Amino acid sequence: MFELPKLEYAYNALEPFIDEQTMTIHHTKHHQAYLDNLNKAVAGTPLEQTAVEDILKDLNKVPEGIRTAVRNHGGGHYNHSLFWKMMAPGAGGQPSGALSDAITAKFGGFDKFVEQFSASAMGRFGSGWAWLVSTPGGMEIVSTANQDTPLSEGKMPLLALDVWEHSYYLKYQNKRADYVKAWWNVVNWKYVEELYKR
Ligand code: MN
Repeated sequence: MFELPKLEYAYNALEPFIDEQTMTIHHTKHHQAYLDNLNKAVAGTPLEQTAVEDILKDLNKVPEGIRTAVRNHGGGHYNHSLFWKMMAPGAGGQPSGALSDAITAKFGGFDKFVEQFSASAMGRFGSGWAWLVSTPGGMEIVSTANQDTPLSEGKMPLLALDVWEHSYYLKYQNKRADYVKAWWNVVNWKYVEELYKR
């Protein structure tokens, strides 16, 4: 049985960048719905006892009859669990240490990285996510559709941005660019640095 993780901050803690109503609905309704549907799909199977990361890393092992449901709702659960941790009140700024060096080496500087990541978030047509991932060949910026996760392609997520309309519409309406720009103010680089070290 998969359960909704508690947020490490209050629903209004990311104001004014991410509003309280969006955070409340996103966490208690959208994330909860992915969980409910995931739990329904895996009920009575060994997947009930398997870590969601392990399920998503090898979707071919999921029985065909529930594979699409597990991909969508398991992905929804995993992606959102990660997303909550990637934000924190009073965060933002820039990464430091090895992650900062790696970003500069790969993208030519932090500003250029922000530009490319934001372009990826803007370029995702419809619903999906923008990611910074770690691959055997180095870091990459990618985007995925729906609730697909880079884990399923053998890539380790380092940074994730939800660009489904439900993540910004109440405050930003159709202005995804404004949401993406505001989001950089709440990025929890300390957590991203932890993921990079692993
Ligand atoms: Mn979402």
